[in-house]
Amino acid sequence: MMIDTHCHFDVDDFDADRAEVAARALAAGVDTIVIPGYIAALWPKLFSVCASIAAPRLLPAPGLHPCYIAGHEQADLVELERIVSTQPECVAIGEIGLDYFLDELKAPELKAKQQAFFRAQLELAMRYPKPVILHVRKAHQDVIHILHELKFREGGIVHAYSGGIEEARHYAKMGFRLGIGGPLTYDQSKRLRAVVADMPLQALVLETDAPDMIPQAHRDPAARRTRNSPEFLPSVAQAMAELKGLPLAEVETVTRQQSLAVLRLAS
Ligand SMILES: [Zn+2]
Repeated sequence: MMIDTHCHFDVDDFDADRAEVAARALAAGVDTIVIPGYIAALWPKLFSVCASIAAPRLLPAPGLHPCYIAGHEQADLVELERIVSTQPECVAIGEIGLDYFLDELKAPELKAKQQAFFRAQLELAMRYPKPVILHVRKAHQDVIHILHELKFREGGIVHAYSGGIEEARHYAKMGFRLGIGGPLTYDQSKRLRAVVADMPLQALVLETDAPDMIPQAHRDPAARRTRNSPEFLPSVAQAMAELKGLPLAEVETVTRQQSLAVLRLAS
């Protein structure tokens, strides 16, 4: 069985058929799904979705996403701490990080606010202690710098990994795994494929990032199907197995073990 370490299964895209998708994901071999948060207003729904389905197991990772930085408030950090301190099912703090890719997030005051919220959430993760799920785009240097400065030792997952090999090794040394998803199946993902080929399997975990990042094989332009789904996770495992020249079963077993280890789950 596989673990989808990053799936926005709480969003409206799944409201109409969430139970059916969950059943298909389980049948496809996905028995655990981590659902990261992104804005405080949606944390209640995140927890109610996680409680609404027994299998696959749905694990909440509440947090404040850097792409929505303009709307985050100090009070959201207080609420996040209340949740993390009272709801033991929180498996991680996520998704948090820095995004310097989008122009609208690069204004100096927003960059500063991104960094402040990132630091505050890392410190929260250290207090409770929890791993983190990182969203990092064009900001690996600053993220690594901040992790070092805070002496962050809780580890976590660098979701939708987009960096190079040097940064990948750096994250691995700091106790992070790289989250690998649909982009591995895209022809244009040369750098990602090089990183996945080079890094030991023990440094990698699987994710879909559904409803985004649909694997190539499941795209259906004619039917206008673009919604990614946790049931498509086997395509990512398959692509990883082919790229690394390993049996699919080994990819499934090792990525599962690494997901459990980094999320501190017994099974
Ligand atoms: Zn995400």
